Amino acid sequence: MTELDLDVRWYAGTGSGRRGAAPPIQVHQAAPGTVLLRQSIKTNFEAPFLYLLFGEDRAFLLDTGATADASGFPLRAVVDTLMDGWLRAHPRAGYELIVAHSHAHGDHVAGDGQFTDRPRTRVVGHSAAEVASFFGIADWPRGTARLDLGGRVLEVIPTPGHHPSAVAIYDEATGMLLTGDTVYPGRLYVQDFPAFEDSLRALCDFSAAHPVRAVLGAHIEMSARAFRDFPLGSTRHPGEAPLPLTVGDLHAVRDAAGRIAGRPGAHRYPNFIIWNGPCRLESAAQSVRFGLFRAVGLFRSPGR
Ligand SMILES: [Zn+2]
Repeated sequence: MTELDLDVRWYAGTGSGRRGAAPPIQVHQAAPGTVLLRQSIKTNFEAPFLYLLFGEDRAFLLDTGATADASGFPLRAVVDTLMDGWLRAHPRAGYELIVAHSHAHGDHVAGDGQFTDRPRTRVVGHSAAEVASFFGIADWPRGTARLDLGGRVLEVIPTPGHHPSAVAIYDEATGMLLTGDTVYPGRLYVQDFPAFEDSLRALCDFSAAHPVRAVLGAHIEMSARAFRDFPLGSTRHPGEAPLPLTVGDLHAVRDAAGRIAGRPGAHRYPNFIIWNGPCRLESAAQSVRFGLFRAVGLFRSPGR
């Protein structure tokens, strides 16, 4: 398996202006042909992670970020530059791009429009039916599909629960399991709890049968201090938790979900929070904490 470099200092809105403004998209080469991208938290508080994987015949982009406008969020330009660079090193004709999504919430599909007129590019639809048909998953949400990028196979695993068309992507080349908003170090908002539990079981079963080297989601909302999250809407994340989770964390989320099924509310664990259904109390607490967090920020000198 290809070695993965996941030791990244992600921009978290805390740097001073001295080193210049943060780029709208931070790019990290984790392995050859394996690019992690993060939308700047200064352009959108969701600061989602995107993934660009290169095969011999086509590249695969997972998610298009939280902003449509290419001037504030030049995703197409960044992806084109990365693809041009890859093609200079691996010249070939007719190279394709597939634009897919971990799920269809706005902070993961907003940049789709930047790719609609791109040559040799297919943008996967947003509904569960469109995702199932694109990848060829006949019995959605059961089963998985294989997608061959040319010498590099991805496995697509349906994971509804947070969103009906959610999928996880397993990359055989690196052992990365990309889990979108289903599992990440943050608030796991569950819309359909039985589906979420089934998906967690599916991810754990999959991980028992395949070598998973890193579980990588689409956001960071936890602090590195256990049980602490940054309040919803925060545009600074001082002391953010690391992005990579483990198969052990998948088990922890699955087991936690089993214990809190039928108990609405926000259930806190050291490096994730399961948000079972709409919870007004926790939502109110989040907005109070956001207000306090922002007020503290006003009295902080830049660069701290
Ligand atoms: Zn999201």
